[in-house]
Amino acid sequence: MRTRTLSVVIAAVSFLIVTAHADDKKPKCTTPPAECERIIRQMLSGRRYLGVQLQELNPGLSVKSVVEEGPADRANLRPGDRFMAVNGKSTKDATIQDFKKILTDAKETGRLWIIVQRDGILKKIELRMEPYTKAQIDKIVAQHLAEAHAIVASAPPQP
Ligand SMILES: [Zn+2]
Repeated sequence: MRTRTLSVVIAAVSFLIVTAHADDKKPKCTTPPAECERIIRQMLSGRRYLGVQLQELNPGLSVKSVVEEGPADRANLRPGDRFMAVNGKSTKDATIQDFKKILTDAKETGRLWIIVQRDGILKKIELRMEPYTKAQIDKIVAQHLAEAHAIVASAPPQP
């Protein structure tokens, strides 16, 4: 039971972080919100991230959005950038799943060298995955509560 709860939350969280958000496919969460918040915080603290949301171009990947002040933002990744290669691997036909695998392979160093195409020009972007800050974790929690539990972010949690 516990494993199932966790996997639902993990799915919801990775949905928020990695994949494009589709309005007609909102994640629904049946875990109590307080429990959810606790699990998300526990899961994200100390975990490294890139701060980029990708979309599949079919084929290929491009940047949908970047988290303000996150590693991708500071490395100058911009919405619309198309990923041509990551860490020496071509990503011209890659899916988000392929990209996740590259991230897993780069877990040790947390470093990524990305060749992007922007306005027809190739650019090399070097970045490093970094731990989430408290502010970012707060934001992800608020986003999850709003989207999956219909709880408004500014409302203080009820005991
Ligand atoms: Zn939840």
